[in-house]
Order: sequence, then C-alpha cells, then structure tokens
Amino acid sequence: APKIGVLALQGDVREHVRALESSGAGAMPVRRQEELDAVDALVIPGGESTTMWKLATAFELLEPLRMRIKEGMPAYGSCAGMIMLADRIEGGIEGQQTLGGIDMVVRRNAFGRQIDSFEADLDFASRGLMRAVFIRAPWVESVGPEVDVLGRARREDTVSDPGDRIVAVRQGPLLATSFHPELTGDARVHSYFVEMVREF
Ligand code: GLN
Repeated sequence: APKIGVLALQGDVREHVRALESSGAGAMPVRRQEELDAVDALVIPGGESTTMWKLATAFELLEPLRMRIKEGMPAYGSCAGMIMLADRIEGGIEGQQTLGGIDMVVRRNAFGRQIDSFEADLDFASRGLMRAVFIRAPWVESVGPEVDVLGRARREDTVSDPGDRIVAVRQGPLLATSFHPELTGDARVHSYFVEMVREF
C-alpha cells in the first residue's frame, strides 16, 4: 500500500488519516523533514493558510515541501491546503507565500465572511453527487491549460452571486478541493487520490 503523509502543522489531521486508511493507504502525520522523506505522497489539510505558511517556515518544511512537489510527489490539498498548492492567490495577507504547483488563481475566503460555512451537493470527477462541507472556503478564480476542473458548486443562500464556482481541480499528480471531504465520512475524494498515488 502507498504511504501517504498528512501535513500535521495544523488542521484535522486524524480525520484525513482515517479516510486514507479506509481507502487502502498507509497514513501517517508529517511534521519533520525525515517524516516527509519517508512518504510517497502528502495530504495538506484545511486550517488557516497564513498560519500553515508561517509554521511550515518555522519547522523548516517550506523548501523541502516545494522540492518534493517540484519532483512530482502526489499531493492533495483541502481548503487551506488548496491555497497552499496554488501558484497564485488573491486576498492573501502581506507577503503570504504558497508552495505552488497548480497553475491557478485561488481566492481566499471567497464564499463569504470569515465565520461562514455551508454545504452543497456537487458532482466530483463524474463520480456522482457528493455532499460537500465548505468552511471559510476559497474558490478557484481561474486555471491554466494543464488544469482539469473536477467539480463546481454554488452557495444557494447567496443572492448576489448565484454562479457555479470551481471547487475541485487536478493538475497531474496534484489534487485540490475547496471543501472538506474528511468531515463527511464519504471517502470518494480520498479514494480518488489514493488511485492517483498508485498511478504515479
Ligand atoms: N480561510 C482559510 C484560509 O485562508 C481556509 C479555511 C479552511 O481551511 N477551512 O486559509
């Protein structure tokens, strides 16, 4: 089974570990470079991308993470993790850096104010309808030619902006979702990622 790390600087690490294990992968938290070196792939959980960036810098993981991604390590980022995998962000704080890897612009806190969360049904990667939980979620503003859009959703209670937004993308070995599949007990996104990891 592939060994998949979950970046454990912040966020709901245990839920991701459980979802990966139920999808047939070995899963372990990653906090140090030695732990990063030992995994085949990485999940970057939700949380707060500004904090995650600062912690990754403090733990001396920012450059090792960038290096692994550049070398082609499969990675899946959820919510703040999606922001971390974006080449460009809108609405970041002064000086905020990402790891990059996916040729897209991601807008932080795009669906509403800081405390806002909501749920929506979406079709992820043509695998049928899935209930998705969004918490202070970003959306994908635009994507480059190498990026596949795997899911779109809208916030039904917003009058001002009724359009569908891109909330799931893939570029080669990199996957990102605006939502939190680890919170709904639906392992389809994690299974999709484990399949990706087996391919690479
Ligand atoms: N708003 C957060 C950020 O900018 C993301 C929220 C989340 O991961 N649930 O990082």
